[in-house]
Amino acid sequence: MNIHEYQGKEILRSYGVSVPNGKVAFTVDEAVEAAKELGTDVVVVKAQIHAGGRGKAGGVKIAKSLDEVRTYAEEILGKVLVTHQTGPEGKEVKRLLIEEGSKIQKEYYVGVVVDRATSRVVMMASEEGGTEIEEVAANTPEKIFKEVIDPAIGLMPFQARKLAFAINIPSHLVNKAVKFMLGLYQVFSDKDASVAEINPLVVTEDDQVIALDAKFNFDSNGLFRHQDVLALRDLDEEDAKEIEASKYDLSYIALDGNIGCMVNGAGLAMSTMDIIKFYGGEPANFLDVGGGATTEKVTEAFKIILSDAKVKGIFVNIFGGIMKCDTIANGVVTAAREVGIDRPLVVRLEGTNVDLGKQILKESGLNIVAADSMADGAKKIVELVK
Ligand code: GDP
Ligand code: MN
Repeated sequence: MNIHEYQGKEILRSYGVSVPNGKVAFTVDEAVEAAKELGTDVVVVKAQIHAGGRGKAGGVKIAKSLDEVRTYAEEILGKVLVTHQTGPEGKEVKRLLIEEGSKIQKEYYVGVVVDRATSRVVMMASEEGGTEIEEVAANTPEKIFKEVIDPAIGLMPFQARKLAFAINIPSHLVNKAVKFMLGLYQVFSDKDASVAEINPLVVTEDDQVIALDAKFNFDSNGLFRHQDVLALRDLDEEDAKEIEASKYDLSYIALDGNIGCMVNGAGLAMSTMDIIKFYGGEPANFLDVGGGATTEKVTEAFKIILSDAKVKGIFVNIFGGIMKCDTIANGVVTAAREVGIDRPLVVRLEGTNVDLGKQILKESGLNIVAADSMADGAKKIVELVK
């Protein structure tokens, strides 16, 4: 789960990590009011969306008067911001962060991620802050420094110092940078984050070391023990279909293709996507209805797939182990009756109660293409959506 920059900064502040003073605003008037309260000569108006690259897209503006704050707030609120992370459809800005301006001396990068290669949390730092770290990694990887963190002891001060020196933090500010990094790691660890990225971390002309941006991602499996973090969820930023799926405890991820997939078991769901691609198609989603799905759950899953306008055909691929084929068949039929299936549907059933399942589908009078293997089903649906 992602949160907004202003929320990430509030968490950092509560851990004693330096961030600029600022306030969230939902309207233009609130933005002006917030700027008045800050009372600084320079105020930064920042679009709050769950995507980076706002600066280049016109979502970060520096205002030198309350009139300018009003002008920028009017301009940015309600605007659809298109950045390299939003996709071409962009994201509508509904919140602003009104923040005191900082006199930047230099921008750095500090990030904490879970590194699959070492199975450890890694802190990364670079002197090339403010720009896209992906570009730095691609063009000048030697400018990114990493410290692998032992989970039993956490980030050690000597490791933070090593990073601070490696990225050339001015020597009289190294201690402040170390304090910053230790605090950042503490937040990451305490809150079960999966990504914590500060880009840029800045050194200011008045010798502060502060986070000018904050991007957090939290492990959804850990959210049950962080109600405070869960409360920061912004449903406006999430895929409506994924929200609906989570209500029914379905593992659903929207993708870019046009073949809707209904599968039981994560492994089978993965291989179903693979085989669709193998035959030249593109899956529209990952969906695991789970082992113990009820007819109701299957019905909802089917509705979610159908609500996706990109879906040009559906491939149901079920291996009935714990899940029974007749349950799936009933779900498909119920959903089809409720919402109507106007697109090709290929079904491959195997396992427990397979004959009963096939009979239910046959007697439903629905226009279903039966497949007798996974490969056969994938070939057929790829052909049908062409
Ligand atoms: P992003 O583009 O979505 O990553 O948004 P950031 O919060 O990183 O802001 C983009 C850039 O705006 C930063 O790299 C800074 O150069 C600039 N910026 C942000 N806040 C301030 C500020 O308080 N003062 C100044 N001078 N520049 C700022
Ligand atoms: Mn940034």
